[in-house]
Amino acid sequence: MTQLEKHTELTDIHWMVQMLQTVDVGLVVLDRNNQILLWNSFMENHSGIRSNKALGRQLAELFPKLSFTWLNRKLDAVFKLGSPAYSTWEQRPRLFDFKSYRPLTGSSELMYQNLTLMPLQGPDNTTAQVCLLIYDVTDSATNRLQLEEANQELARLSRTDRLTGLLNRGYWEECLQQEFLREQRSQGQSSLIIFDIDHFKKVNDTYGHQAGDEVIRQAAQLLKQEARATDFPGRYGGEEFVLLLPDTPEAGAQEVAERLRQALESKVIEYGELSLKVTISLGVSGFTKQLDTAQTWLERADQALYQAKEAGRNQVKCWSPA
Ligand code: GH3
Ligand code: MG
Ligand code: MG
Repeated sequence: MTQLEKHTELTDIHWMVQMLQTVDVGLVVLDRNNQILLWNSFMENHSGIRSNKALGRQLAELFPKLSFTWLNRKLDAVFKLGSPAYSTWEQRPRLFDFKSYRPLTGSSELMYQNLTLMPLQGPDNTTAQVCLLIYDVTDSATNRLQLEEANQELARLSRTDRLTGLLNRGYWEECLQQEFLREQRSQGQSSLIIFDIDHFKKVNDTYGHQAGDEVIRQAAQLLKQEARATDFPGRYGGEEFVLLLPDTPEAGAQEVAERLRQALESKVIEYGELSLKVTISLGVSGFTKQLDTAQTWLERADQALYQAKEAGRNQVKCWSPA
């Protein structure tokens, strides 16, 4: 080897080491016993452990809380197969619990990491070491998570009625359609309640629209309290509400409707200086296999509501063919 070749080789190694040190990726080389053979400055900076303290130590000594069951399984596969393995932040948010400072929010949170495990082959072509490459992907991960959160919130808003927080008419009708199809297949026993506040125009005319809104909000609140987690309470229109009760026969729904009626009848709605009282009329309709569409099912409940109004209001009626 000439002097120049020797010089170049040394320079190459020198450069290589500098690059390994400065690259913005964590580099850790482990042997088969999880002993650390390389610990670059990314790892030093984020762990606070200097390279001279890390080299020669077991990874488990320095990071006893690391998920070794998972990591060792991955490492074993890389040693055995001699091909790389990967893990993204979606599969596992991070291997090392490093802090990440976010200038945008000014908050400090944990770094999201993508991970590559690369086999390092010796001269005899067997894998004697594995290099872990740890990529800081906090920016793209948090952007993605924030976007998903915003989308979920948008989806929630598009299903929700603004004034009451109940399901809005469009989404509730989708739920009704789904339930109708399910009932047709299973011949189950689900029911519908629709109700409407009695003489509500008078509330608006006498006390104003704002007071009317408060009455609507409180009626909705009662409906939410009365509904079970598996029910679908919705605001169908101005002062008209609906409740879809899966797996509830008509007699059960009638009881729920009666409870709602009594609850509202006995409620005093406070609004500023005012104490208001309202009643509701309710129509109930149980699913039967004669129904051809979800719309017919709802129309039956509506017809029952109309009968309740006709019969003097503040009462429950079940649909009957008569
Ligand atoms: P009935 O006993 O027959 O149901 O009598 P009603 O006065 O309640 O009759 P109707 O259904 O015709 O009146 C509903 C009124 O509700 C008319 C409308 O101005 C009012 N309304 C609809 N939406 C809202 C709302 O969001 N807030 C308020 N305050 N009023 C509303
Ligand atoms: Mg009304
Ligand atoms: Mg009405």
